[in-house]
Amino acid sequence: MAKKGRVFSGARPTGRQHLGNYLGAIKNYVALQDDYDCVYCIVDLHALTTAEDTRDLRQNTYEMALDWLAAGIRPADSIMFIQSQVPQVTELHLLLSMVTPLGKLTDLPTFKEKVRQQPDNVNYGLVGYPVLMTADIVLYKTDVVPVGVDQAPHIEFAREIVRSFNYRFQTKALIEPQMKNTEVPKVLGIDGKEKMSKSLNNHIELAATPEETRQRVMQMVTDPARIKRTDPGNPDVCNVFSLHKIFSSPEEVAMIDRDCRSAALGCVDCKKLLIKNLNKYFEPFRAKRAEIAQQPDQVWDILHDGAERARALAEQTMQEVREAVQLPV
Ligand code: SF4
Repeated sequence: MAKKGRVFSGARPTGRQHLGNYLGAIKNYVALQDDYDCVYCIVDLHALTTAEDTRDLRQNTYEMALDWLAAGIRPADSIMFIQSQVPQVTELHLLLSMVTPLGKLTDLPTFKEKVRQQPDNVNYGLVGYPVLMTADIVLYKTDVVPVGVDQAPHIEFAREIVRSFNYRFQTKALIEPQMKNTEVPKVLGIDGKEKMSKSLNNHIELAATPEETRQRVMQMVTDPARIKRTDPGNPDVCNVFSLHKIFSSPEEVAMIDRDCRSAALGCVDCKKLLIKNLNKYFEPFRAKRAEIAQQPDQVWDILHDGAERARALAEQTMQEVREAVQLPV
């Protein structure tokens, strides 16, 4: 069946993935493969803008790739690769930087936020981050980028850079990517307050063992107003219930909604049901992950093969770009 176009998405190598990564990106990556030619990139160069210690970079890349494969990314259909293994992206980044006003980059709220977070490491790469991101996207003649609402301004900025480049060099070499808004549930960590994140250690890993999953779920904060077992609860403010709505059956969700409010259901039993459903849901993922992990070379081979296919696409674009800029051949 003819595909609807090409999708690109990238994610930093953060190692073993958690429920937030899965629900926010990976699940969608897998689904998009049916309708689009997908290019999925592990953006290790982006990681360097904030990572001072790179000792875990390779291992984190491997673990993330392993999770993507186990979750259902199909390397025969999709291109899955590591950003730094396609050097054309750094070339395009530099050329795009020539049409990107510095003041615009330093005015971006995301840049200002990073300056606040790491005042002692405001490096050049950090300023140029959105330009590198634009290069990532347009290098592969991407039609569509899946984005959540909060990322929409980044894609709009990428479109501006493309327009500036095409106008400046009177070319159509670069395509303005379209946004595909994806409904991404906000996944809170086990603290019930902050977004699920590894750095906050409030996450539940997809590859956790059933016992590790049990321990994490048992630590989850529930309705803070429910002090005693006999107190009625409010599932609408409970993060355990949010996960039930994703991983439990409609009948179970209806039962929890009813019995929590009447105090017929206690939080421990409610959590036990979530643990059962999470472990059941991720059982095939974990089995596949364990199987792939027996041959780590296979994961690297898939990434290298993906990089080769990505380089072929990238080189085609760069030939048009170099021609437009009139770089000597
Ligand atoms: Fe949350 Fe379940 Fe406890 Fe209700 S019973 S407060 S939904 S954990």
